[in-house]
Amino acid sequence: MSCDELKEFYELYALGVAEPEERREVEEHLERNCPNCTPGIRLARQQVAALALAAPQVELPSGLRDRVVTAVAPVLEKPTSVNWLTHAWATLAVLMLAAVLWYNYSARRLEGQLALLGRRLAAAETTNSELTVRNRLLVEALALVSLPESRQLIFGRTDREPPRGRIWVHPQRGVLLLASRLPPAPAGRIYEMWIVPKSGPPAPAGLFNSDPRGEATHVWSLPVDLSTAAAVAVTLEPEAGAPAPTSTPLIVASF
Ligand SMILES: [Zn+2]
Repeated sequence: MSCDELKEFYELYALGVAEPEERREVEEHLERNCPNCTPGIRLARQQVAALALAAPQVELPSGLRDRVVTAVAPVLEKPTSVNWLTHAWATLAVLMLAAVLWYNYSARRLEGQLALLGRRLAAAETTNSELTVRNRLLVEALALVSLPESRQLIFGRTDREPPRGRIWVHPQRGVLLLASRLPPAPAGRIYEMWIVPKSGPPAPAGLFNSDPRGEATHVWSLPVDLSTAAAVAVTLEPEAGAPAPTSTPLIVASF
């Protein structure tokens, strides 16, 4: 068989599925180191191996590709092996092993990616709900500040009263408190706001804390009866809050 005729059998030979007669022809050309066929057959072997290795279009786990190449290399390097079919099957077995390893690896990786996606989604939902809460707070605050029915109270005008700020009270929308120079509540304690009536016990109006800069924003979104209210006050209370004030008010803003 001429070199030209033999060309179409290179791949079949490399795959180990060439007919015995063609295989003998190829091996005969390889044995005499035929300058036309030897490079072509080597290329065909490399392509067969590369094709199988390249099949997964993602990065193989580190080391796996090297292990497969090391396992296949001796087979590829032996140009005139006695029994090519055995080597081809050995190659195929190694490639199948690689495929199994790769599928296990990619399944694990997919699992990991799904878990990561889940965590990111949860985080995004948390951020979104936090933003919704902040947005609502801002809208409430703006309404309380801008509505004509709102009453504005100012507290802490002098240096003898460290917390200073403003309070807006709207009969339907509630109370907005903005304070500065109010240090964060100590561990296990929290600030509690009160609506103090002209007579009777103060009514709780929500818990809040100030930030590390000593600034606090607190919105209480329930109606306030302006005809009976005398003041808005703030006390330091246990973390869970208290039904009635248990300490001297830090802030008192009278109507
Ligand atoms: Zn040849």
